[in-house]
Amino acid sequence: MLTAKRLSQLHDILRQPAAPFCEQHVARCVSNMLDQAGVPHFHDPFGNLVVGVASETAYRQRLQKRDDEPVRIFIAHMDHPGFHGVRWLAENRLKIKWHGGSPLKHLSGAQLWLADAEQRLTTGKLTATLRKPQLLKAGWAIDHAEVVIHPSVHSKKGISLKQQYPGKKAQQLFGSFSFRSDVWMSGKRLYTRAADDLVGVFAIVSTAIDLHRRKDAPFIGLLTRAEEVGFVGAVSHFDLGWMQAARRPLVCVSLEASRTLPGAIVGKGPVVRLGDRRTPFDSGALQVLTALAEKTLPGRYQRRLMDGGACEATAATAWGLPTVGITLPLGNYHNQGFEGGQDCPKPEGPAPEFVHLDDIDGELRLCRALMRKGLSWTDPWSQTRSRLRKNAKNYKALF
Ligand SMILES: [Zn+2]
Repeated sequence: MLTAKRLSQLHDILRQPAAPFCEQHVARCVSNMLDQAGVPHFHDPFGNLVVGVASETAYRQRLQKRDDEPVRIFIAHMDHPGFHGVRWLAENRLKIKWHGGSPLKHLSGAQLWLADAEQRLTTGKLTATLRKPQLLKAGWAIDHAEVVIHPSVHSKKGISLKQQYPGKKAQQLFGSFSFRSDVWMSGKRLYTRAADDLVGVFAIVSTAIDLHRRKDAPFIGLLTRAEEVGFVGAVSHFDLGWMQAARRPLVCVSLEASRTLPGAIVGKGPVVRLGDRRTPFDSGALQVLTALAEKTLPGRYQRRLMDGGACEATAATAWGLPTVGITLPLGNYHNQGFEGGQDCPKPEGPAPEFVHLDDIDGELRLCRALMRKGLSWTDPWSQTRSRLRKNAKNYKALF
């Protein structure tokens, strides 16, 4: 089970505001945790947070060391769908542009949070709601809308955002849907604004902290930006060419939370992700991961193609990197109330995402298991071959 310390770290990460290109709160929170644990980390030129090495030089050295052990590159994204401020329409009314997926129904009047690079603005005295939402032409998400900022019921009338925060420019603001709290538990179910993909971020931080005494562990964590608008942070990182200069094998492990599907049920264990909507993943590395899951979590993991969405594993695959995925079954994907539950008054309206603590625990175990030395990366099919050979031998007489 997750220790109390780990659970409080998870909650801390889940409390951070985040939207595509506005991941500074998450990055700061994670950097502090890593500093406290003595885990090296740095920002690449695009602001992706690289974990486990202190600099570009150390990153290159790890990948250039001649070794059969592949470097495991764990990838998760720090953003979640949300909006950016565009311009002030009035003292307390902001035009916004949405980035990434979103609920499509029951949007008018939905509660929002609003933040800038330094702080959350909708706390205590101010609340915000959505007004006049317009969907994209293709119809799969909000395109633009207005945000109305009100004094909260507990405060004096007439407080405006501009009075509260003079000089605040519209483009400095970002936000998304808000609920009774940033994170809360109901039994083992964890409700939160953005499990996708802040739980993946937590899993990488947690794995890095567990590993930090193992000098030269073949590990790199890549916490990316702007995944929700086409893996922009990951693509920019891959295009740096650092990975292509490797002199040893690499394997990317995408950690995601994705829409629950038949065979990928919340609470039944983490999912060995065979592929996403765009592509199947690397068959050899999946064989290693499946064998590990069978040993580490017998009967407590799931395995399927998660084709409800694409993920950074698609980008890694397109850049020629062998890739696998571990994903948490996720309720109310991208805050669309598909599965209902608490704080989801109307089906398919705005809703908190939810995941299960046992699934998170299973994911952490799998991440740790993937770091074991001497796994069969170079010949993952040898056991399968000998089993099939033995079977074929038994049938020799029938040839
Ligand atoms: Zn995601």
